[in-house]
Amino acid sequence: MTYIPLAIPNVGQEEARNLQQCVDTNFVSSVGAFVDRFEREVASLSGSEYGVAMGAGTQALHMALHALGVGVGDLVLLPSFTFIASANAISHTGARPWLFDVAAESWTLDVEQVRSALRMCNRDEAGWLRHPETHERVRAIMPVYTLGTPADMVGLRELADEFGLPIVADAAAAIGVKYNGAPIGEFADLTCYSFNGNKTITCGGGGMVVGSDAELLKKIKHISTTARTSKNYDHDVVGFNYRMTNLQAAVGCAQLEKLSSFLDAKKRIRQFYDAGLKHIPEIELFPSVQDRTSTYWFSGFYFKERNAALLNKFINFMATNHCEVRPFWKPVHLQHPYADCPKQSLGYSTDIYDRIITLPCSTNLTVEEQETVISLIHTFFGE
Ligand SMILES: *Cc1c(COP(=O)(O)O)cnc(C)c1O
Repeated sequence: MTYIPLAIPNVGQEEARNLQQCVDTNFVSSVGAFVDRFEREVASLSGSEYGVAMGAGTQALHMALHALGVGVGDLVLLPSFTFIASANAISHTGARPWLFDVAAESWTLDVEQVRSALRMCNRDEAGWLRHPETHERVRAIMPVYTLGTPADMVGLRELADEFGLPIVADAAAAIGVKYNGAPIGEFADLTCYSFNGNKTITCGGGGMVVGSDAELLKKIKHISTTARTSKNYDHDVVGFNYRMTNLQAAVGCAQLEKLSSFLDAKKRIRQFYDAGLKHIPEIELFPSVQDRTSTYWFSGFYFKERNAALLNKFINFMATNHCEVRPFWKPVHLQHPYADCPKQSLGYSTDIYDRIITLPCSTNLTVEEQETVISLIHTFFGE
């Protein structure tokens, strides 16, 4: 019996052809035609004017926050239910995350909770918004597009405008989705993608910041390229060496050509699981939201009741049958480095995270493989 992995890259001849071109032209490093093209194409499909490619999604988030002036003594609003990289990017600037819950309907940032928390903040004499207890400056909002589904961006934009805060969206796995019919780059000041191996499209590793503020994006490019001001080793600020190489972008450009077929595959996989699993009484399906499309980055289900023994038994049963399934993100407030961060009540995140199972959902998963997964799940639940 063949092994069915959770989520693996889907690369082939097109990627090989572009990589060969890098070798043939000797453009393998941090400048090259593929980098320029990849930035242009990703920005364009995001509805944004500019893109700056990075070595990782974490670097993209870090540079976005750094360019906005976020630093020591600052807070960035973040849903606790996210991959730890979102929080790490905040920490890398010297700031701390202020942790919020997610809404049950979307698993994205709970806008009502954000609204009431911001209303509790005070303004200091200089006009900065301050946390009511820690008095740290509140500097930005970072929604996370969980499972490739955008947050409630209309609600968040309203709050961001009311309180004068920029939005840096962690859209790591959400490339190509729409919100209210418009591409997602239009809803945040800066939107950040990841092109890690398990994301919707991959560069092997990589990330990008997109946005439409020319000055800001120029600054991001500058600071992520060692802040060089001339070819004579002049640098005007402490910069970072975070840029994507032409080799990575070569893979990314080939992947972009397949994006719509990848998105179709992810959606088909999700619908097939939903149809195949919806009658199992012990489980619930992942949430779907009507006004937004999703990349359906991961498919899966969650147990109606918390039962660590049953969850582990399920994971082991699937592994024994050559099928990889995994739990999902452990929230940031339960992670050692972030245990002391300011936080609002995190009831839903705490309640849901250790009941979730993600299922095999690579874009090259075959129908037969998916049928195998579904029938194994039925066997486990004794149907
Ligand atoms: C993958 C991911 C990241 C980090 O991206 P890397 O390219 O691995 O640095 C950040 N946030 C979320 C939500 C992610 O899924």
